[in-house]
Amino acid sequence: MSTTHILGYPRIGKQRELKFALEAYWRGESSQQQLLEVGRTIRQKNWQVQQDSGQTWVTVGDFAWYDQVLNTSLLLGNIPERHQVDNLNLDSMFAIARGQQSCACNHAASDMSKWFNTNYHYIVPEFSESSCFSLQWQQLFDEIEEALALGHAVKPVILGPVSYLYLGKNDDAATAGFQRLSLLPQLLKVYREIFQKMAALGVEWVQLDEPVLGLELEPQWQEALLDAYRTRISPTKLLLTSYFADVLDNADVIKQLAVDGLHLDLSAAPEQLQQVLTWLPEKWVLSAGIINGRNVWRANLPDLIERYRSLKVRLGERLWLASSCSLLHSPLDLDNEDGLGDAKYRLAFAQQKLTELQLLDDAISGDADALRLSRQYSAALQTLNKKTNSALQRRLDQLNPEQRQRKLTFIKRQAIQQQSLQLPLLPTTTIGSFPQTDQIRRQRREYRVGTLSQVDYDAALAKHIADAIKRQEKLGLDVLVHGEAERNDMVEYFAELLDGFIVSRFAWVQSYGSRCVKPAIIVDDIERSKPLTIEWTHYAQSLTTKPVKGMLTGPVTILTWSFAREDLSRAEIAEQIALALNDEVNELQQAGIKVIQIDEPAIREGMPLKRSQWESYLDWAVSAFKLSAASAKPETQIHTHMCYSEFNDIMPAVAALDADVLTIETSRSAMSLLQAFEHFAYPNQIGPGVYDIHSPNIPSVAEIKNLIDKAAQWIPLQRLWVNPDCGLKTRNWQETEAALENMVLATKELRVNWPKGLAL
Ligand code: GLN
Ligand code: ZN
Repeated sequence: MSTTHILGYPRIGKQRELKFALEAYWRGESSQQQLLEVGRTIRQKNWQVQQDSGQTWVTVGDFAWYDQVLNTSLLLGNIPERHQVDNLNLDSMFAIARGQQSCACNHAASDMSKWFNTNYHYIVPEFSESSCFSLQWQQLFDEIEEALALGHAVKPVILGPVSYLYLGKNDDAATAGFQRLSLLPQLLKVYREIFQKMAALGVEWVQLDEPVLGLELEPQWQEALLDAYRTRISPTKLLLTSYFADVLDNADVIKQLAVDGLHLDLSAAPEQLQQVLTWLPEKWVLSAGIINGRNVWRANLPDLIERYRSLKVRLGERLWLASSCSLLHSPLDLDNEDGLGDAKYRLAFAQQKLTELQLLDDAISGDADALRLSRQYSAALQTLNKKTNSALQRRLDQLNPEQRQRKLTFIKRQAIQQQSLQLPLLPTTTIGSFPQTDQIRRQRREYRVGTLSQVDYDAALAKHIADAIKRQEKLGLDVLVHGEAERNDMVEYFAELLDGFIVSRFAWVQSYGSRCVKPAIIVDDIERSKPLTIEWTHYAQSLTTKPVKGMLTGPVTILTWSFAREDLSRAEIAEQIALALNDEVNELQQAGIKVIQIDEPAIREGMPLKRSQWESYLDWAVSAFKLSAASAKPETQIHTHMCYSEFNDIMPAVAALDADVLTIETSRSAMSLLQAFEHFAYPNQIGPGVYDIHSPNIPSVAEIKNLIDKAAQWIPLQRLWVNPDCGLKTRNWQETEAALENMVLATKELRVNWPKGLAL
């Protein structure tokens, strides 16, 4: 008997049922009973497919109404003070995740943060000296019982205490020197209780997720792992689980822990295996994560069989086969798709990965039929491994260093651009998108299904663009945008126009709560065989004498937010995208566009988990960005935009992008980002966002002036821009105009009446 399992399964449902059920419930259109029913059905289906595909256990505890880290907070009774209620229920959970929608008091939502290097966002736990923990939320136990009652063999998953603390933050009540780790002993008490309870339910194995094992942990966090697990903490057996990176930095700690097995992500880091085998304790099982939970590709089964057959011989029953990480990060079912053509034979989504796992296990155990089937199954992959086509490769090889960057230095470019653009002090602009109104969405939908003709759709877009230009002129902004009415998504729009991508219809992946994204899939070389943005940008420019900013998504962001082919390195793919954008930049400027923004919001999130790999990542990421902008003449002003992340620790790389203007999200942290400039003087122009576009609140003139003022303490006025902190597509026009009116007013007041003490 051999063991196969997955670390978790997508919970949104094949038709995104959970999303729609949640949103209906939040709008007050359905009852809690109806929501609970949808959740139950999804869970039961998920367990059933795991059982049907022959997994040893079904994974329980991976279902979440909003987020699995938030589940853990409730389980442990760690409720932020402002959300505490007598009777914890589903609504309290949603209040923590989304804020108390009904009142304007300070029941703010908890922060969200990226789950390691994925595009999934978790709800950040909050801690202070007064945090105390107790077993409060029964969901995990209820679900275990639910699965048992259906006759399943159950393996619960739980986020371990060290990762839970690590992923949290100190809340407002915490004093300055407060160390979250001081809470560990208390926390462990509750974990012991949880394990006891699971054992009492008859659970044999628990999947104990400690994904921080993949990080280069500081000594105090390694110490914490020892404190947590040096002695046995659970009457059940424990599978210590880590993913997304190798565990080698923490090897000395891991081997001392009183657990019963270790799971390795051998898709992300196959090379760790040899080392781990040298110290893996005799009695432990090794769960080999070899079916990649984060991509959409069929596994190369013959190759995996070859690589892991001898391991099977060596470890026997102690070898388990598994998904590399939770399948949460891959789309649900390929059978939903039509219209992917032959590419379909190269793809596998979550449900297909279950089958792969089983086939792999049978074949590795020596089943001849399975061996033959796995060869057939992976046959389509043979066609995949063709390298970059030669014409494109030649073009890339022939690029000389001068063609990979701007020709003049920023200082020289700045002078030339000022000559040509004649912008006032503190130029005002926006980040690209304007409200995506119901009307725009409806028209796009009708166009897609064919009830709105190309001609009528184009006419509608032209109207939206003209409207956006008119409104911006009236507001008195200095650098205008066309508003992105033609784009549903800043990556998908480009993926549909560039060669080398396929765009699925249903390959949704949860991003946070009820939000899902549908990443494009890079199946081939990326080339630009037609213009991408020229027509609409040119049209917008024809309507005004003010400069209109062309709007492109950068190479690193397009790559990071897509599923990438795996026969080329990420660096090579980014370079292909960059070359395509380079052509687009060139054509935009030939069409009379003087300002071009290349968005890179994902540059921070694409960073490897290990700091030791940052430098090489940033090297190619910066080169790719520079290549996209390199065709710009000195008089063409290149902007870039970043948001959603902490940029303080990569400011030198951000500066190395050498964009003429950087606009960046800062207003939520009241410009705290700018403190980075205390240590690092950003050399080019910069527009720190002066208001938070995620909030419907209208910023006052005084608030905006105050923020510009703060920014001016770090950045010389001559290099300062004024703009919101991100695109405005989620706002309505009324909010947008009111906010921008105040922004322009604040700027105008400052231009004539700069506060004393700050030199102009
Ligand atoms: N230009 C994009 C917009 O305004 C930028 C979005 C982003 O930063 N994520 O919508
Ligand atoms: Zn942004």
